[in-house]
This record gives sequence, structure tokens and C-alpha cells, in this order.
Amino acid sequence: MRQSKLFTKTIKDAPKDEVSVNAQLLIKAGFVDKLMAGVYSYLPLGLLTLRKINDVVREEMNAIDGQEILMPALSPKELWDKTGRWEDPGTEVMFQFKGRSDKELGLGWTHEEVVTPLVQKFVKSYKDLPVAVYQIQDKFRNEPRAKSGLMRGIEFSMKDLYSFHTTEEDMWDYYEKSKQAYLNVFNRCGLDAKIVEASGGAFSKYSHEFQVLTEYGEDTVFYCSKCDFAQNSEISKVKAGDKCPKCGESISEGKAIEVGNIFPLKTKYSSAFKFKYTAENGKEQDVIMGCYGIGPSRVMGSVVEIHHDDKGMIWPEEIAPFKVHLLFLGKDDKIKAAAEKLYLGLNEAGIEVLFDDRDVSAGVKLNDSDLIGLPYRIVVSEKTLAEDSVELKKRADEKVDLVELKKVVKMLSA
Ligand code: ATP
Ligand code: MG
Repeated sequence: MRQSKLFTKTIKDAPKDEVSVNAQLLIKAGFVDKLMAGVYSYLPLGLLTLRKINDVVREEMNAIDGQEILMPALSPKELWDKTGRWEDPGTEVMFQFKGRSDKELGLGWTHEEVVTPLVQKFVKSYKDLPVAVYQIQDKFRNEPRAKSGLMRGIEFSMKDLYSFHTTEEDMWDYYEKSKQAYLNVFNRCGLDAKIVEASGGAFSKYSHEFQVLTEYGEDTVFYCSKCDFAQNSEISKVKAGDKCPKCGESISEGKAIEVGNIFPLKTKYSSAFKFKYTAENGKEQDVIMGCYGIGPSRVMGSVVEIHHDDKGMIWPEEIAPFKVHLLFLGKDDKIKAAAEKLYLGLNEAGIEVLFDDRDVSAGVKLNDSDLIGLPYRIVVSEKTLAEDSVELKKRADEKVDLVELKKVVKMLSA
């Protein structure tokens, strides 16, 4: 893509009330625009990034036999009355209002009340199970402290998967598989997530959260640096310095961002909706459920919180809006022509490239490039052309390599 055609521009200052690093950088680089606290528009660069995160999520959910669907954001009160959640948590979390004929409606902040009766329409027998469905959709929550940019939206993106099983054992098997799929998602997005025991709600002792340790996190976790023991402070009985209950090593305390959460729901929602299946022996039994959430928009914010420096963002390759930022410096037509030729070559090789073909100063181009933070930067200039070369630099490294013009496409194709 040509940067001259991009309708957004980098901006000098983020809004004053925007305190989080992720929102400041994403707004300054033109990835998102703030409509109001907790509500953002995704602009071309931001939407490309969010789509790449969603692609990773889709691949990993499809790999554990998730079938993608899309449920509505609007749903009627009656469904939420079946589980009591219209009243509790009620408007504390949910946006509720009236449509025509005073029909009471709400916006989805989670989807058990919609997905359970939906799957119930199709699943009757043990032969129809197990099944897993998921969607990637905007959720709405009346969040009290929407000041963390993409990390805590009032409208935000969620991937929610729901699994349905004949037995608890089968649900737990799937639950374990989902843990690995989740770790794959976060790894591929450049996040090192820890599996942390957290509150499980009324029907199970624990749920499991995927927490990324960082000082910017809102959660506190206690974890062992030697084994995999880790608990959210909301449920933990250990403190920093205590002995790990699993291996005896010393427990550490850290701030963390929750990027995912999986729950063994068991029969909580199937019993509310009388969702039963006919077992092999002809008896009717409650369907066993699990649910599994990831926040793609929070993932995007977290990546920025973790991968940035004082000049801007540093995107991991798999989710960067483009792989390469191609710049030419200098007014000479032959420099621009060489860059144009390289732009075509990169495009033909299928390499995603943002081409800064604007007529602006070298300083502006270099600063914008650091701010936007694509994984590779190519600079074509008088100096590099004197050696039939370009400068190639990784955003994450300081090192600048001189690479022959004729080799650079091949090098980046790898
Ligand atoms: P938190 O404790 O941070 O409020 P939660 O435990 O209420 O989150 P879940 O219901 O577990 O959130 O939602 C599943 C996932 O959706 C979370 O792990 C997180 O990645 C994402 N998520 C939840 N709330 C928000 C939000 N307000 N903005 C952005 N992402 C969110
Ligand atoms: Mg959670």
C-alpha cells in the first residue's frame, strides 16, 4: 500500500485524557481513533492488525474443531431471565433498553444465553456430540473504569467459543486441548502468557486465565518461577516469598494482563435451558459445557504495551499490518524510481509492504516509520544506491545492514 493514499496521518499528540501507552501510540500512529472512553474506531492500519490477530485465533480454534458462527449482539430479556443474569449482574454489566412495543432487549456481554438454546435446536443425541462453536464479535460491557485504551473497552472484540459434551471427562479433555490452542494464539501474537488459576464462579472451583506478566497489568498474580504453579490474587492463599505448594520454590508476585479465560461450565447453562441429550442407553442427560474467551482487541493493546520503545510500536511479524516499511530519502527522481521498482518487486513476491511515497522530509519518514513499527524497514537513498544497495533494518534491532538491491526481495521472502 502507498502511504500517500492512506487517509490517516500520524498525529503529534494523543488526546490529553488518554493515559495508557497502547492508546497513545495507536492513536498517534493512526491505527485507532477514540470516539469516547472505551470505544474506538479501527482505521486501516489498526483493522489490518486486528484482522491478523483474528486470523491467528481462527486458525487455532479451527484446529480444535471449532466451527465459526456469528450470533447477534442484540438479545431479548426472556433468555437472560432463564439464568437470572438479567437481574444479576444486570445493568451493572449489561446495556439494557426497550425496543418497539416496550420489548426489553440487551446487548451481549457474553453469549451463553444465546448459544445454549441455539445449539439445543440441533443437538439431540449422543451421536451429535461433542460440538464446539465460536464467534469473533463485539461485546458490550458497562465497564466502570474504561481508561486503559484497547485493554478495557465498553465495546470490544471477543472470540468466544462454547463446547458441548456428553461427559465431564470429555469436556476436560477438550479443556486441556484448548489450553494448548490458547498458548499457540498468544505465542504467535508475541505474548508470553502464563496459565493462572482463577475464580471459577459457582459451578467449578477454578477457571483458568491466560495472563501476560507486565507492570502495566491490572491483575495481580502469584506464581512460581520454577514450576507451573500460578494463581490470581483474587483466589490465592499464597503470598510473595511463600513456598510454592507444588515444588517448594519461592513464590513471586507480579502485575499481569488477562488476555484469555476458559471456564468449565459443566451443567450451569444446559440445566437452565433444559438442554439434554439422549444417551446410548436411551436415558436423557444434561449436556456438559465449557466456554473459552479471548479478547483480540485487548491482545492488540497488550502487544503494544509490551512491544514498544520511546519511538513507537514494535509489531511482531505475524500480526503486523505490513511486513515491510519501504522508504526513500532524497528528492532525486532516480531514488524515487529505484524505490518504485523495488515496491513492485516486493508486491510481486507477495510481501506485504507499506511504501512511504510521500513528499515529506527524511526526518518525518523515519520518525513515522519508528512510530508505526513494522518489522522491517528498507531505506533507499543516494548513499545506498551508490552501492546498488538498500539499508535493511529490523524495527526491534539497532543494526542496519546494507543489502544489494537485487537480493533484498529474496531475503525478505524467506
Ligand atoms: P476483566 O477481569 O479484565 O474485566 P473478565 O474476566 O471480565 O475481564 P471475561 O469475561 O473472562 O473477562 O472475557 C474473556 C476475555 O475478553 C478476557 O480474558 C479479555 O481478554 C477480554 N475482555 C474482557 N473484558 C474486556 C474489555 N472490557 N475490553 C477488552 N477486552 C476484554
Ligand atoms: Mg476473565
